[in-house]
Amino acid sequence: MATVSLKNVKKRFGSTEVIHGVSADIADGEFIVIVGPSGCGKSTLLRMVAGLETVSEGVVEIDGARVNEKEPMDRDIAMVFQNYALYPHMSVRQNMAYSLKIAGLAKSEIDRKVGEAARLLQLEPYLDRKPKQLSGGQRQRVAMGRAIVREPSVFLFDEPLSNLDAKLRVQMRLEIRQLQAKLGVTALYVTHDQVEAMTMADRMIVMNEGRAEQIGTPLEVYEKPATLFAAQFIGSPA
Ligand code: ADP
Ligand code: MG
Repeated sequence: MATVSLKNVKKRFGSTEVIHGVSADIADGEFIVIVGPSGCGKSTLLRMVAGLETVSEGVVEIDGARVNEKEPMDRDIAMVFQNYALYPHMSVRQNMAYSLKIAGLAKSEIDRKVGEAARLLQLEPYLDRKPKQLSGGQRQRVAMGRAIVREPSVFLFDEPLSNLDAKLRVQMRLEIRQLQAKLGVTALYVTHDQVEAMTMADRMIVMNEGRAEQIGTPLEVYEKPATLFAAQFIGSPA
């Protein structure tokens, strides 16, 4: 169970404000896509939810608790990046087991969790391979496996599919949504790809220049764009 609440969140780097006050209430189990052009502040916003970046003003809460209060490892959050960030010298099994080892879990428990994630992600045949012996899609699955073994209640994705070819991207969109539904986790998913946003989101946050232009379902944004930017970016006729 996890709700995520952004309350007038602002971010400054030095004297430059890049996020100008974003508010959103995200329900437990919701799949939210943060979509907007390059440089609009998507990653910065996500990193503040992850606690990887301090919040300059406003509050980010997960289940009503401010994210700054806990250390990242204790938090119930997992993040998947576009460059996978797998350990190249470790096998798939070791990559997925690593954070559990650090957390001090017993070997039997680690084996059970890694086995379960591998089954869910169809990685069982590849457990003893190294990342360089895998396809792009398989690497992305390992990155997700590494995240889900920790059984997070919030899953954060930052452009996880942008290194994959078009066909695989379409397939992985479906896989990610199925996985999220099966796990029942709350997801925040960043992309600059409108089609990805429209096909994956329960609701989308349309961002432009550090502001949330609109928050709504793909249909709402398409049929009733709140701003000219939202209309043009999503490509609706309005
Ligand atoms: P997006 O993910 O939408 O492409 P980012 O969140 O990466 O956008 O960046 C938003 C803005 O913040 C950009 O103008 C970027 O240059 C700036 N920015 C991001 N990280 C830093 C940083 N560590 N220091 C200074 N400026 C930054
Ligand atoms: Mg980014």
